[in-house]
Amino acid sequence: MSELADHVESAVLIDHHVHGCWSAQGDAGDRIRFESALNEADTAPVTEVGAGFDSQVGVAVRAHCAPLLDLERHVGADEYLTRRTALGETEVSRRFLQAAGVSDWLVDTGFSAGLVDTGELTAASGGSTHEVVRLEEVAEQAAAAPGDYAEAFDEILGERAAGAVATKSVLAYRGGFAGDLGDPPPALVDIAAQRWREAGGTRLTDRILLRFGLHRALRLGKPLQFHVGFGDRDCDLYAANPLLLNDFLRSSGDTPVMLLHCYPYEREAGYLAQAHRNVYLDGGLSITHLGARATSFVGRLLELAPFRKILYSSDGAGPAEFHYLGARLWRSGMTRVLDGFVADGEWSAADAMHVVDLIAHENARRIYRL
Ligand SMILES: [Zn+2]
Repeated sequence: MSELADHVESAVLIDHHVHGCWSAQGDAGDRIRFESALNEADTAPVTEVGAGFDSQVGVAVRAHCAPLLDLERHVGADEYLTRRTALGETEVSRRFLQAAGVSDWLVDTGFSAGLVDTGELTAASGGSTHEVVRLEEVAEQAAAAPGDYAEAFDEILGERAAGAVATKSVLAYRGGFAGDLGDPPPALVDIAAQRWREAGGTRLTDRILLRFGLHRALRLGKPLQFHVGFGDRDCDLYAANPLLLNDFLRSSGDTPVMLLHCYPYEREAGYLAQAHRNVYLDGGLSITHLGARATSFVGRLLELAPFRKILYSSDGAGPAEFHYLGARLWRSGMTRVLDGFVADGEWSAADAMHVVDLIAHENARRIYRL
């Protein structure tokens, strides 16, 4: 192995956007659940057994995850799932989380059904966990609280953010980025909040209140994570193009804004990271689902974005295979891309190792003040 490959393999990662893995309550051998998890965009369960594995991520699971379950690389799907069932969810999770080489997990707790909590993730992985507070969840809590909505929102956000490292918005799933994202006047917030409370105060889609939450997060000053691009079909992919955030970013001050996932807009996100001092990006979720094609995606992340603006994440949620595969495919992709730069005489090996360290952990440590 080259010195560079060795450096990438041993780099300690900070996974700056992730969720819990499946809890032990589920059935580790539930084939429909597992195969459905291999498809991010389609939210309906798979109907054809085996179809989930006929995908880049399905092949990647059989190639890279099988050895951690004491199986041969490229083992068949049936054998993989039989072994997964025999080991059980707790042991499967322990193996993958510990093999990811992650020291710190920054956990978006806004989506938690069937997943372990941060304490269980800490115990299973041996790493540290830090909370990322989802703004739309704070909004729901404020809607349920008595009194003035804006005051309740500020109080809840202040309390929750005191022990958290960042906030997160799923605006991409609630109408997208197109249109005015300015700070709404208080009178409009009052009217919108009253209307939303009367309608039940669940699943926030009101633009005024979504904008209000974003600007409260900017004022808070902790890094603000945005789901960008690729996600399930509830996300209007066309309206999740980060270029639509340009006006918002121009007026976002110094608060770091983190563009997550980005596919197929990684080039747009890279441009924004160069254009705005406070904008950063990652390729979490996308790298995992691109499997053998993750290398070219990792290469595109290393185009316009300044290297101090790129972070690592897996966006793992559910099967712990994803918490591991994000790291596995990132390491392979980085090694191949950077080996190419060095072989072409464009970069020194020292340049490459410096950039590996920035993306693996140095940028996250600096931005989140870990
Ligand atoms: Zn996520």
